[in-house]
Amino acid sequence: MKEQTHDHAARAHALLSASGAHRWLACPPSAAAALRYPDESSEYATEGTRAHEVAEAIVSGMTPDDLLEHDEYTVEMVNHAIEYKDYIEEQRTSPDDLLLLETRVDFSPWVPEGFGTCDAMLIRGNVLTVIDYKYGVGVPVSAVDNPQMRLYALGALNDYGIALDVETVEMHIYQPRIHNISTDTISVDKLLRWGEKVVKPIAAKAWEGKGTYKAGDHCRFCPHAAKCRALAHYCESIVDLHGSEHAIPTLTPAEIADILTAEPVIASWLRRVKARALEELLDGKEIPGFKAVDGRLGNRQWADESRVVEILRDNGYGEDDYTERKLKSPAGMDELLGKKTAAEMLGSVTVRKPGSPTIVPDTDRRPAVTKAEALAKDYD
Ligand code: SF4
Repeated sequence: MKEQTHDHAARAHALLSASGAHRWLACPPSAAAALRYPDESSEYATEGTRAHEVAEAIVSGMTPDDLLEHDEYTVEMVNHAIEYKDYIEEQRTSPDDLLLLETRVDFSPWVPEGFGTCDAMLIRGNVLTVIDYKYGVGVPVSAVDNPQMRLYALGALNDYGIALDVETVEMHIYQPRIHNISTDTISVDKLLRWGEKVVKPIAAKAWEGKGTYKAGDHCRFCPHAAKCRALAHYCESIVDLHGSEHAIPTLTPAEIADILTAEPVIASWLRRVKARALEELLDGKEIPGFKAVDGRLGNRQWADESRVVEILRDNGYGEDDYTERKLKSPAGMDELLGKKTAAEMLGSVTVRKPGSPTIVPDTDRRPAVTKAEALAKDYD
């Protein structure tokens, strides 16, 4: 399998990567600051790498059965890859359209040593379509004004588009696990202007580690976040109380809105500071007033299931006593049957429990709720 696809895990990382552009365009010196921290691979990153391998293999024509012979690939990955293949096919208008998978693109005319890998690229007539396959479930990623997608598009234009008279670029994000498809369209003229006027000067500063540290939403995945003074100031300033001239200083609704808007950054900053502090304590360093200890014990579990069965059998218990058969969950049925078939076959007998109320920005599509409305519904 590995010989037939690109080695996704070994995709090289540039100092000014396309995936980090959201951050270094807003805070140019963050690129150099991030160099002080090791590249940390998470289990989610490994899962994403595997999912990309499966997606590329399926789009290239490999069969699900061949893929599922490999333990590291799951039925869910294969099912999503099949949907991804269908999505790419839907974008094609003719069999003559040029489809390129996992293509390294070079955007170094705008960003020093800038390169990236496009998951899928389609050239049909004067339209270039760049498709990014995202396997994450954390947040829906938008293609609108997305600098990562734009840099891939610049690289694709640089390598292919100008020779092929491309005039328009479409950028698609395909994020199947949370049903997110986001698209944006830009003219080649506008994209090139963005590259020259916005990206080029900032990238030159970032390359030299210059520019101003500027904190904001882009700090959430910055490797320097746990030790960044600029981010600490930003988080403090958000919770600084302005209404102190009142006898009882009270936050105004607008101040509460400011805090809610910054909540993801503040929460992630606190998590990152805590994780970094734990690492330092475990390394034997000192954080005044704190120490690392063993956490609470986890839930009990069987050390050896076959021994448990043996012991119970020896004591006269039958299989029905110590095992239980359970119907698979709707998610398990999706895996078994594929999402589409599961929905057709079992949609009418599937329900969802209503979720607890939660706060979201007012741009969210769900209707607003109040306690009074919930009571009225219950009464009905
Ligand atoms: S944490 Fe934020 S402000 Fe600090 S270097 Fe990173 S991106 Fe810049």
